[in-house]
Parts: sequence; C-alpha cells; structure tokens
Amino acid sequence: MLRIGCHLSASKGYTAMAKQAYDIGANVFQFFTRNPRGGAAKAIDENDIRSFYEFTGEHGITDYLAHAPYTLNSCAADEKILTFARETMQDDLRRMEYIPGNCYNFHPGSHVKQGTETGIEKIAATLNMVLTPDMSTTVLLETMAGKGSEVGGKFEELREIIDRVELSDKLGVCLDTCHIYDAGYDIVSNLDGVIAEFDRVIGLDRLKAVHLNDSKNPIGSHKDRHETIGNGFIGLDAIERIINHPALRDKPFYLETPNDIPGYAREIALLKELYRD
Ligand code: FE
Ligand code: FE
Ligand code: ZN
Repeated sequence: MLRIGCHLSASKGYTAMAKQAYDIGANVFQFFTRNPRGGAAKAIDENDIRSFYEFTGEHGITDYLAHAPYTLNSCAADEKILTFARETMQDDLRRMEYIPGNCYNFHPGSHVKQGTETGIEKIAATLNMVLTPDMSTTVLLETMAGKGSEVGGKFEELREIIDRVELSDKLGVCLDTCHIYDAGYDIVSNLDGVIAEFDRVIGLDRLKAVHLNDSKNPIGSHKDRHETIGNGFIGLDAIERIINHPALRDKPFYLETPNDIPGYAREIALLKELYRD
C-alpha cells in the first residue's frame, strides 16, 4: 500500500491533524514542531496524545514526520543563532518522545561565508550535541536544492556530515524530489542512476522519507520552488516512476506542494491511482 500524506498544520493539536489526514485519504503526515519561523512551542497535551494514538490506531495512520523550523541554522557563524538552533532541536527532540519511534527532519543549514567544510563540521557538531543514546527518534538530514550557501545540495555533503557524527545510527535522510532536481540530479530521465548514486554515496538504508514535490524550475536551477504534482518540470510521468520505484515504493511520501487541503486530497487520490499494488 502506498504510504502517502502531506504537510498539515499542528495548530489544533495531534488528534486534529490525524483526523484531517484521514479525511483527505492520507495514512502518513508531516507537521512543524513549532512555528516554522522559530519561537516557543505549545505545551504537549497528554490527553491529546492519548486520543491521537486511539484515532491513528483505528484508522491506519502510521508515520508522523516532524519538521524542524526551516529558519534554524545549525551551522550559523553567529554564536547566538547557532545556540538557538541547537537548543530548539534539543527541545524538539525531548518533545518527540511523546510520539516515540518517529522521524525528525531538518534542513542541514547555510554556511553563508564560512565555506562548505566549516558548514559540514558545525552541522556535525550540532548533531553530536543533540543526539542522545536513549532517544527513540531518527533525525533526518533533508537533501537540499543548493540555493545560496545551503549545505546538503550534494549527496557527498550529507555523507560527510554522517561520517562525523558519533551516534550515526540515529541519523537518516529525507529525499526531497524538488530539491534534488533543482540541485541537478536528473530524476526525470535517469531515476535509476540517481538512486544508484544515492545508494553508493549515502546508502539506501539511510533513506527514511520522501518529500514528493514537483518543481517550478528546470533541473539544476538551485531555486527550491515547489510546484503541484504534474504541473512542473518534473512532471507526472516521472512522479509515477518515483512512487513505484522498487527502492522508493515502500517509503512514506509527504507532499509539500502549494495546495490547500482539498488540493492535497486530490493529489493523494491521483497518486493512489498511479501506484501499482
Ligand atoms: Fe524541508
Ligand atoms: Fe522538503
Ligand atoms: Zn523546499
């Protein structure tokens, strides 16, 4: 069965998200751990968590991918910004233990003028601070478009981060189709080649989630502008091959397309139709 869902708002709590996921035909979903621009997180309501598990258990909703605020920069040059990123991640990871055994995805960071090597070192240092032996969460590095000075636009950069992390068994990767296409990986005409490259450099055992997005821009544009499914440069044929690819088809897919809720429901229905059981 296709594991498919989308990004949902966490503002009304976990149970409300699970119900919304079910209403639109999703069996997985993604949410921000707090305001995407940072700021304080809402207190966890244990009653909400209980009814959340009751609902998801009854309705077959299986994966809840948390996304860190995208403004965190875990390789910032400024000490204050760096400390803020690290403390926010630590707090998020403590809260993740209310929904144990799930994944927490983050954008590795932007090195700004420090250079990629320094960026990689600092991101690894951040992970060495926030990962703990007893946590049940897997932290995912997201593949990036390589916009500006973003780290993670090349598989090799993610590999270098992983290699510097002590508790690397707590690490995985989230593959964003718009980002890797914008980064220059040709998933339209050479999907097998890109997947083989991912396996060679990172290892497919690290792949825990896929962000399924079309792109408003051509390959290699380094833009990171998501498009609705089938309406961008990746296109519906390539997306059909992606969700059915033997190395990907069992992974959870999360839409982050520019949509309202009915739009997501339509995309989920379309993707279920294209999936070969
Ligand atoms: Fe992201
Ligand atoms: Fe993404
Ligand atoms: Zn993006």
